[in-house]
Amino acid sequence: MRTVIITVTSGILAIEVAWHLYKLYKRSRREVNVKVNVSNGDTKLFCKNTRTKTNIFEVMFFSKDSSLCRSHLGYMTSCEKVNCPVRHLRKIIKYLDSATDTLDACVYFFTFPELAEAIIKAKERNVTVRIILDESMSQNDTSQIMNFYKEGIKLKSKRLDVLMHHKFVIINNNILITGSVNWTKSAFFGNFENLIVTNEPALVKPFVEEFEKIWTTLSNITTETDFRDLNATI
Ligand SMILES: [Zn+2]
Repeated sequence: MRTVIITVTSGILAIEVAWHLYKLYKRSRREVNVKVNVSNGDTKLFCKNTRTKTNIFEVMFFSKDSSLCRSHLGYMTSCEKVNCPVRHLRKIIKYLDSATDTLDACVYFFTFPELAEAIIKAKERNVTVRIILDESMSQNDTSQIMNFYKEGIKLKSKRLDVLMHHKFVIINNNILITGSVNWTKSAFFGNFENLIVTNEPALVKPFVEEFEKIWTTLSNITTETDFRDLNATI
């Protein structure tokens, strides 16, 4: 009798679990419309998301202690620290390596060779790469701008009367990497900084639109840029 009760109870539990899993599956398949306030003040319905993909919500912090991890940067191995900057770096490179279609970067100061290499590799596998850099920081000898330029990557680095102070990258119009971090070794290994990685459409889409807006704006600026100087130095 006891065995029968246990068997029946187990059966009921199994059915309930299966029902809950089915409901979760149905919910994950449901289309979601996302409303976003766009820059002109309107609210725009922009996205249908089947939410069958894995959601990415990553928060990375960097601190003064990050400098201690420089010792294992050479091996690209991470230590046990939750916020090991090498672990963060490896993740960022993994996201860059996942680019199959587009890779748009708008970064104030870009000197980090490992990150530049990942972007150049994306270009080499025919990903459409566009990069916006601050013109004043591109004059720095450590800037990666020449390496990007030599690879034929589309670049905008125009002389402006304000800073191009953004630090964000969008992969396949789907994954956003943004935060306080300049893409430099010193930012990763010694500053108090943050990075967020997400594929949440409500966050990604405005950045996609902003990148397009900035790219168009810079394309329309006819003032001389340093590309003439770059041509002269190659
Ligand atoms: Zn470490």
